[in-house]
Amino acid sequence: MKAFWKKPQYIKVAEITGSIKVSNEKPPIWDDVCGAFGIKPEAYFTYGDTIYNPSKLPLIADIIEHEKVHMEQQKHNDVDAALWWGRYLREPEFRLDQEARAYGRQYEVICSVVKDRNQRNRYLMALSRSLSGPLYNNSIGQVEAMQLIKSFAKIKQ
Ligand SMILES: [Zn+2]
Repeated sequence: MKAFWKKPQYIKVAEITGSIKVSNEKPPIWDDVCGAFGIKPEAYFTYGDTIYNPSKLPLIADIIEHEKVHMEQQKHNDVDAALWWGRYLREPEFRLDQEARAYGRQYEVICSVVKDRNQRNRYLMALSRSLSGPLYNNSIGQVEAMQLIKSFAKIKQ
């Protein structure tokens, strides 16, 4: 899952992502997610090998790469996806770990396109605001979130 935030620059999708399955339906775990968060989140949901995008938010390259990490974590199938989501909703530490890896990949993709240091920092700030925010229980501070995201990103200069 990834909250939507406005970004300063769009990245061309096809260059980076290849083909993926996207649905505008609600994901299979929709009721559980709404119950756990107490809201109907405006977000993307990966389940198995599909990105569910019920709010029809813009699907841009770095977000697709973020969700592809969750596809790998769910081994691209519905059985593992059900287990993964169970843990994700019950265990805040598991959720933070899985998300930090996805945000790390997202930052990595951004850095493959954006070379300007200040611009990279703005992205990292936005990603870390999201990872340290209410969607993930405010469980870590923003500086810690930045360090965590960086630690999972393999960045070439
Ligand atoms: Zn995520």
